[in-house]
Amino acid sequence: MEKIVSLCKRRGFIFPSSEIYGGLASTWDYGPLGVELKGNVKAAWWQSTVYEREDIEGLDAAILMHPKTWSASGHIKNFFDLMVDCKDCQKRFKSQAKCPSCGSSSLTKERPFNLMFKTFLGPVEDSGSGVYLRPETAQGIFVNFSNVLNSSHRKLPFGIAQIGKAFRNEVTTGNFTFRSREFEQMEIEFFVPPNEAEKWYKYWVKERLSWYTKLGINSKNLRVREHEQDELAHYAKACADIEYKFPFGWSELEGIANRTDFDLKQHSEFSQKDLAYFNEETKTKVLPFIIEPSGGIDRTVLAFLVDAYREEQVRERKRVVLGLSRRLAPIKVAVLPLLRNRGEIVRFAKSIAGDLRKHFSGCGKKVVYDDTAGIGRLYRRQDEIGTIFCVTVDVDSLEDKKVTVRERDSMEQVRVSTEGLRSYLEAELQK
Ligand code: ATP
Repeated sequence: MEKIVSLCKRRGFIFPSSEIYGGLASTWDYGPLGVELKGNVKAAWWQSTVYEREDIEGLDAAILMHPKTWSASGHIKNFFDLMVDCKDCQKRFKSQAKCPSCGSSSLTKERPFNLMFKTFLGPVEDSGSGVYLRPETAQGIFVNFSNVLNSSHRKLPFGIAQIGKAFRNEVTTGNFTFRSREFEQMEIEFFVPPNEAEKWYKYWVKERLSWYTKLGINSKNLRVREHEQDELAHYAKACADIEYKFPFGWSELEGIANRTDFDLKQHSEFSQKDLAYFNEETKTKVLPFIIEPSGGIDRTVLAFLVDAYREEQVRERKRVVLGLSRRLAPIKVAVLPLLRNRGEIVRFAKSIAGDLRKHFSGCGKKVVYDDTAGIGRLYRRQDEIGTIFCVTVDVDSLEDKKVTVRERDSMEQVRVSTEGLRSYLEAELQK
């Protein structure tokens, strides 16, 4: 983990939030490479859920919601951790037998602590103006169920997908971005006829598991853990976690739950709006059951980073490689001049980078140019951040108009004409 945290800071993936002021506990900022990686993860999720399927619509609901939402959802009543203080070192943490800081067993009584962040709407901080930062994106989908249904003329089964920020005032945080107080979720709420819930639940567990492996996570590091009956959340009939083998142990990346008709029933009751689905064919009303695959972007990004990191021995030297998939790597192509002191080579390399950038930026693929070190070091830097191809311009390039393309994993080098470079890279990046 230390290696990952250090690489993230050093190379600009993830920084502690407001670091110049000493940081803010468990909040993180994504740097130049982090924002690309995170964006690629989100785009891959959106592609597989919204674009490649015909049964899911997208949504982007507000973070602030009517406070009644949280009474209906059960968050006001149920969304808390039990917290204790250590009488010896005064640290506060999630209830357990011993103080995780000093080991003392002298602890205060357990007290419930609601995990939602509260704030106020408008200029008056009275009890009537209290609102919460959403602790999950799901509720924004439930309250828009009728809006989406009526505007898109959907029939069951269909789903609504959303990516967005969520906030939890976690008592115990840690393990880098794994447990943050501000994080992003990617959630699908899939509305189904009640008698099909079991089938769709199993379908989504499989489907989501394969999404991680298709994007490059080693299947040995993933497992599905079904929740025991006494572990289930108040709304769920069944739940399975997709877990990843992090250096700190097997931990949840995503939960898939059969939420029954709990959510639509609750919101119908609290809003006094009928959220039942009307089946035109049978002329009957039904409250759909909901199958929810709910994942965290930050945890997923962390899992991709951990899984991709490797150290190799190449001709007696250590090589650090971030073996991210072609889809997820923050930078797809780096153009490097072999000799950075030769004006013609630098100019030629820059013009090649410019051409590639013009083309690849349209499809969201980042191309960079770098001449800030010797070629050996430039290669090492690009390997360490997962760049798929390095294009090197040398003295011969000026004559034969060919460049060397080096692939990250095999380190194989091929000579490609500058004319055919764009289509060569395009075809390779599709693989
Ligand atoms: P945990 O048991 O680890 O606290 P959870 O079961 O409460 O997680 P859910 O409510 O199921 O989590 O939220 C869905 C997903 O949102 C999780 O699988 C996780 O990826 C992400 N998530 C939840 N809490 C956090 C957090 N504090 N920091 C980062 N991601 C989170």
